[in-house]
Amino acid sequence: MALRTSNRRTVAAVATLLGVVTAAGCAAPGSIPEGSTMAALESSGEITIGIKYDQPLFGEMGADGVPTGFDVEVARIIADELGIGEDGITWVEAPSGDREDLLSSGRVDMVVATYTISDERKERVGFAGPYYVAGQSLMTRTSDAEIASALDLGDKKVCSVEGSTAASTIARVAPDAGLVLFDDYSDCIDPLRTGQVDVVTTDDVILAGYAADADGQFRIVGGAFTAEPYGIGVALEDDAFRLWIDDVLEAAMEDGRWLEAWNETAGEVLPEPQVPHLDRYARVATGE
Ligand code: GLU
Repeated sequence: MALRTSNRRTVAAVATLLGVVTAAGCAAPGSIPEGSTMAALESSGEITIGIKYDQPLFGEMGADGVPTGFDVEVARIIADELGIGEDGITWVEAPSGDREDLLSSGRVDMVVATYTISDERKERVGFAGPYYVAGQSLMTRTSDAEIASALDLGDKKVCSVEGSTAASTIARVAPDAGLVLFDDYSDCIDPLRTGQVDVVTTDDVILAGYAADADGQFRIVGGAFTAEPYGIGVALEDDAFRLWIDDVLEAAMEDGRWLEAWNETAGEVLPEPQVPHLDRYARVATGE
């Protein structure tokens, strides 16, 4: 039987109507405990979410103020579980280098922004997920036949973004390359076109979005040379919110909402991904 719903509380309502009794203490996945961040968000009817504004396929702000992309759809699935629709969502731009500060300062409730889960970042923020696994790659001008992989970077000029895993990895992999760092990947596109830089490096799926919009001017080379598991960032200490989002992701991966979100966005250009395994890690105590 395929029961399809976009709201878990609908399931609860149906279960009640059918007279289904749930054993006390056995919370349905996605249910909301009192006093939690989820309860506060649900009762306020508002949530503030950090996304990318300039990354086609994952997070792009429309001229009408309505964003599109896979990250955006994943964020909407979570908001929907809290009973929050588009009117209750405040979108905030979350450049790579600002994401931890946006979360630790409480300016946003969560970040869904091509955000790689890493041990280093886990010291400052919490991560639900992963809900997708990307991999770092390279994009060159199609007319440039010299660069086929990261081994060919030599002293080439490579553009990436401050505070990204892409920038730190490429500094290690190609230490002699000239690294040019901006706040956003879109800032690398004109310099690549005009020849001020030779390569843009970040996750393959971000590059694919720019390549798809560039009329064959750019190509992606070198395959994926890292694994970038995308997580949903939350405040460091908020384990309950983090694990509740994991439950929501798990349900959405099982009931088709995750795939639907993919197909409507990145799936228009990229192949269907495998369903990733959720991390659900235990946070390491800081000893304070
Ligand atoms: N996923 C990588 C990261 O989180 C690169 C993409 C980005 O900067 O958003 O750093």
